[in-house]
Amino acid sequence: MEPFKKGRYNGLDWPGSFEACRGAKQSPILLPATGAKGKALRTAAAKSSFRYGSLTNPNVVNNGHTLMVALPTDFQSAVTIPFRGDINTAKATSIITSSDAVKGRVKATPAQFHFHSHSEHIVSGAEYALEMHIVHFVKKDQLPACGDAGCPVVLGVMLALTNDENLVTPELRKIIEAMPLNEGETAAIPGSIDVNALLPANRTYVTYEGSLTAPPCTEGLLWHVMLSPMMISQSLLTKYLAAVGDLLCDPTPEWTQELGDAAPHFTPPALNSNGCRKIANGHNWRMTQPINGRPLQLGAF
Ligand SMILES: [Zn+2]
Repeated sequence: MEPFKKGRYNGLDWPGSFEACRGAKQSPILLPATGAKGKALRTAAAKSSFRYGSLTNPNVVNNGHTLMVALPTDFQSAVTIPFRGDINTAKATSIITSSDAVKGRVKATPAQFHFHSHSEHIVSGAEYALEMHIVHFVKKDQLPACGDAGCPVVLGVMLALTNDENLVTPELRKIIEAMPLNEGETAAIPGSIDVNALLPANRTYVTYEGSLTAPPCTEGLLWHVMLSPMMISQSLLTKYLAAVGDLLCDPTPEWTQELGDAAPHFTPPALNSNGCRKIANGHNWRMTQPINGRPLQLGAF
């Protein structure tokens, strides 16, 4: 979730430098339509619930790695996560990892949302154009074991391409049309953004225990990935991809030599005033990771 230069290998080059990236509970994963041997996914013992208010003139940040909208501390939301076991030792992931009875619900506080392209999770074999992540934390006043850092809870929403501009998710259009085109810039989105309107009408999700999808790849993150997509047009996607990209500041990068005569039609991106080129075209996704037998549960809110 931290700004991070993804490099060329979509995460394959991370384990050497980040121990947790070699863990057994990494994200993203393939999300099947059915569980093992074609059986229906188990239904979650208790549902999580995500409801959000509106933002007025929110800022959208282009940090080169992604587009990010920070949610202020007074942002209205009603996000609740069930927990199992002892409230003094339970973490947000206890709903997946413990077989104790469901003991109650705790509040998760939304912090920010951002985008990945293409999608990180693969849903029933489909890779989507973008994936939005709304990042929340269960704070220690809710579950003491979550500590000062809080227990991370992420809601993922897929964005599918459509040729019909009328089907484009209006709130997404507002964000992309207002976004700054260069790394390090911030822009205010005119009017308001109804964050709830970024969620699909069908609120079915798959929940599992996973990790951050960028270094340090910390595990213990409770994922909820919605199965129905929202919509984006090709023109908005092209704009997003051109605006978000890592800067490469080597004046004679290795990859321009590799291309050589093989790609005579290719013109490297222009150098900016700092002698850097924008590369990667917004590609900030991590490859899917082994599920390693982790339970997947189906829920809806
Ligand atoms: Zn993310």
